[in-house]
Amino acid sequence: MKPAPFEYFAPESVEEALDLLEQHGDTAKILAGGQSLGPLLNMRLASPEVLIDINRLEDIAYIRHDDGYLKIGALARQRTIERSLLIPKSWPLLYEAAPYIGHPTLRNRGTICGSLAHADPAAELPAIATALDAELHILGPEGERSARPEEFFESYMTTSLKPEELLAEVRFPPPRPRTGVAWLEVARRHGDFALVGVAAVLTLREDGTCEAARLVYTGVAPVPYDAREAAELLAGEQPDGESFDAAAEKAAELSEPGSDVHASAAYRRHLIRVLSRRALGKALERARGEGDGSP
Ligand SMILES: Cc1cc2nc3c(=O)[nH]c(=O)nc-3n(C[C@H](O)[C@H](O)[C@H](O)COP(=O)(O)OP(=O)(O)OC[C@H]3O[C@@H](n4cnc5c(N)ncnc54)[C@H](O)[C@@H]3O)c2cc1C
Repeated sequence: MKPAPFEYFAPESVEEALDLLEQHGDTAKILAGGQSLGPLLNMRLASPEVLIDINRLEDIAYIRHDDGYLKIGALARQRTIERSLLIPKSWPLLYEAAPYIGHPTLRNRGTICGSLAHADPAAELPAIATALDAELHILGPEGERSARPEEFFESYMTTSLKPEELLAEVRFPPPRPRTGVAWLEVARRHGDFALVGVAAVLTLREDGTCEAARLVYTGVAPVPYDAREAAELLAGEQPDGESFDAAAEKAAELSEPGSDVHASAAYRRHLIRVLSRRALGKALERARGEGDGSP
């Protein structure tokens, strides 16, 4: 199939893009990498009257280190995560997960902010933004606002973005000392959307006990599943097989995954248990500086 007819604009500045968004409101769609919007248009699952192509806005294609934060502009491609010298050391969770996003050709075009704005519940980046407490910076007619991931991701492919707003930047806070992270997922084939994926973040105290932990999953809920109750079981504990089993069990117990053609709810729960234990084990090694520390 081919898309329904639409009017096409290619603004030369962010201001022009925002003016167009304000003029056309919910009849318009931003075109970033087009890796999700393209198929939706072709299948006529989306039929916007207006497309606002932001691909000429090179000044928002940045990934930079600023004030301790990693700042990623709206047009930065997913592939740049793998090529950036900045990311592997300080934000290894992003670096470890990036190769699981589809295939290299797709990541050459797909943007980081586009994936967040699209909010597919099986996508990697929304779960990672949640696990790392990213800040989402949004521009619109009323100026700038920022949202935390739990405010931004509202439901299945639905965010708090208003039709006239642009997700302009995502900011990842500085890494905390003695923190280890791990991303693990299971997909039927490499490059497919994950059946279940998990981001584990583990911060140790100087005495080696656990100061804080996060477990955030993709593929098991309409928005990233942030298993806070499970992760909180680890706080103050000796991080070991026993405490990891308890957290993994709790995360599975409190999850509400669905069944579909790809996997049953029971299988997804099983994956939550297995992947959580393994991811916590890896995160622990990295928090202790064991191995080469690389993802
Ligand atoms: C075969 C295939 C396999 C894939 N596998 C995976 C996978 O394993 N994991 C994964 O995470 N993703 C996967 N994807 C999706 C891919 O990562 C997309 O690149 C991503 O979801 C959207 O980014 P984009 O820049 O292409 O956005 P687009 O497709 O251009 O836009 C997607 C949506 O977001 C909106 N949007 C985009 N940018 C902004 C912005 N800055 N502000 C406001 N709204 C905006 C658009 O209007 C549109 O509604 C796959 C896609 C395909 C086709």
